[in-house]
Amino acid sequence: MSTDRRTLFAAAGAVAAGAALAAGGAAAQPAPAANPSFYKTRIGSLTLTVLLDGIAIRQNPGEGFVRNADRAAVEGALRAQGLPTDRLVNPYCVAALETPRGIVLFDSGTGGHLVPTARGVVPAMQSAGLDPARVSMVVLTHYHGDHISGLTDAQNAAVFPNAEVVAPEPEHAFWTDPANAQRLGAGAQNVQRRLQPYEARLRRIAPDAEVAPGIRAVPTHGHTPGHTSYLVTDGADSVMVLGDLTSRPEINLRHPGWHVIFDMDAQMAEATRRRVFDRLVAEGTLAVGYHWPFPALGRVLREGEGYRVAPVEWLPSI
Ligand SMILES: [Zn+2]
Repeated sequence: MSTDRRTLFAAAGAVAAGAALAAGGAAAQPAPAANPSFYKTRIGSLTLTVLLDGIAIRQNPGEGFVRNADRAAVEGALRAQGLPTDRLVNPYCVAALETPRGIVLFDSGTGGHLVPTARGVVPAMQSAGLDPARVSMVVLTHYHGDHISGLTDAQNAAVFPNAEVVAPEPEHAFWTDPANAQRLGAGAQNVQRRLQPYEARLRRIAPDAEVAPGIRAVPTHGHTPGHTSYLVTDGADSVMVLGDLTSRPEINLRHPGWHVIFDMDAQMAEATRRRVFDRLVAEGTLAVGYHWPFPALGRVLREGEGYRVAPVEWLPSI
């Protein structure tokens, strides 16, 4: 593995520090009114629902969010897209696929454990008519806290009592390696805690495994050592669940060479990003990005030196 270990562990620390900072900053604010949000579309005969778990707000994104671009460049990129420069909204968007064998959830959301502005995925599921007890599989892209913490509630009981958890083998091996425990700190402890109720129903998969009929793993290592995306196909339709292959489009599509602090191996993450974006462009495949603005679903197009997302249209029926 070509990972620069210092960068890698610094990135793991940044995830924890970022969450703590956001939690501290938001604690003084009154709780906002709930607005459970979901978006449904068809993938062949299957229904895909994107669920908005919530958002985190990063203050002053020009400073320290992108490792290899200065404040003027980052703020210029945000301004160019009509976004404020003093704060950046980081959405958490979870995809749920209704299949004949139950609901397949891609990542579990924050569980409401990270920031007051993210309540977890359950309120949006309830609004969308998706019962957590009907989830038969939670398929994980990687082990960062905003993707796995929703597996359990405040008492650390399983939120999805009938679900098998599917995880990429290299990701599991990395986060559970005792040699990494001290340096990964709270991140590794969180992995252990959230997976504990699912221990007897955890399936580790090879990098390009078929997870279930019509769901194939696509290795997209770099953001984390075993980061994995998933291609869902039904009939002539398909959608790629990207996970954290990319940060917000204004950052990582417009500027695919920018290295966001959460990418553990930034060089590998960039190479992976460019390869997958090119594939999405060439094949015209729909994609859903975990940290894209809700409904986080669209087609990647080439634009200038980078890319952009053409968002799906919001239709009154599916
Ligand atoms: Zn994430």
